[in-house]
Amino acid sequence: MPRILVIGSSNTDMVVKTARFPQPGETIIGGDFFMFPGGKGANQAVAAARVGGVVDLIAKVGNDVFGTQAVEGFAHEGINVAYVLTDPKLASGVALITVNGEGENEIVVAPGANAALTPADLDLAEAAFESTDLILMQLETPLETVLHAAKKAKALGKPFVLNPAPAQVLPAELFPLLSLITPNETEAALLTGLSWEGEGALSRIAEALLQKGVENVIITLGAKGAYFQNADSYFQVAAPVVTAVDTTAAGDVFNGALAVALAEGKDWQPAIDFACQAGAIAVTRMGAQTSAPYREELMLRVE
Ligand code: ATP
Repeated sequence: MPRILVIGSSNTDMVVKTARFPQPGETIIGGDFFMFPGGKGANQAVAAARVGGVVDLIAKVGNDVFGTQAVEGFAHEGINVAYVLTDPKLASGVALITVNGEGENEIVVAPGANAALTPADLDLAEAAFESTDLILMQLETPLETVLHAAKKAKALGKPFVLNPAPAQVLPAELFPLLSLITPNETEAALLTGLSWEGEGALSRIAEALLQKGVENVIITLGAKGAYFQNADSYFQVAAPVVTAVDTTAAGDVFNGALAVALAEGKDWQPAIDFACQAGAIAVTRMGAQTSAPYREELMLRVE
C-alpha cells in the first residue's frame, strides 16, 4: 500500500450561523453552532487515508480538548499519530467562522500550535521521511518548516508535493525542491505575478511555475477540473458534473487523493482523474474532512 507523509496544520472549525454579521462593538444572537475538524494538513491526511493511503501525519496541537479530539479523530481514520506533537503552552489551532443568511462567511483563524511546528520537529520524524513514498505539505505552518521539509525530501530522493494554500508569495529557493506544485487559480496567479486575462493564460502561468524550477504543475480549476503541465506534455482533465452543496476542502480532498494515486504509481492522467473524482464527491457533501470519499466510492467510478 502507498505510504504518504502529510505535514501540516490541524484546526477545529467553529461555525455559527446568523442572519447577519454583527457591527463592530455589537452583540447579536446567532443561530445553530457546529464544530468540525479542519486544517489543511489534517484534511489532506484524512482524504489520503480514506482512499487507501498508509498515512503518517506530522502536526502540532495544543494541550487542550480540541487537540485531544483532533488526535482521536486521526487515529479513528487509521492515520499514524506518533508524530502529532502536543505543545504544552499553546492552544490548538481554531477557525472562528460566521456564516450569514446569504451564505457568505467571515473567518478568523488563530493558528496556535500550528505556528510552532518547527524544522526541529520534523527531524524527530526521520523514520517517517525515510519510509514514505511521497510527502505532501501546504502553507498553514511556518515557511521555514516547509523549506526544511522540502530539503529533507530532496536529500532522501522522495517526491515532495506542495499545495501552496493559503495563497502566499514563496521564496525562490523553494521551487527547485518541488516535484509537483498544485495551486488553484488564485494561488497560481499570485505565485507567478501573472493575470488570467487573455488567450493561453493557463499554459503561460504553468510555464512560469516550471521556469521557477518546479518539475510538474497541476492547476486546479474548480468545476472545470484540473490542468497538468511539465516539460514533456500538457493536458486538462474535466471534472465530473455534480451539484455542488459545499466546496469547502475540495482542494484538500483533491490533493490527498492525488498523493495516493501518484504513490501507487499511477500515471499523471489517471492520477489526476482519480483526484478529480474525489474532489467532485467532496463538493456534494457538507464539511471538510466529513466530505472526503472512501476508496470504494471511487472504485465505482474510475477503476
Ligand atoms: P477549496 O478552497 O474550496 O478547498 P480549491 O480552490 O483549493 O478548493 P478547486 O480548484 O476549487 O480547489 O477544487 C479542487 C478540485 O475539486 C478541482 O480540481 C475539481 O477536481 C474538484 N471540484 C471542485 N469544485 C467542483 C465542482 N463544482 N464540480 C466538480 N468538481 C469540483
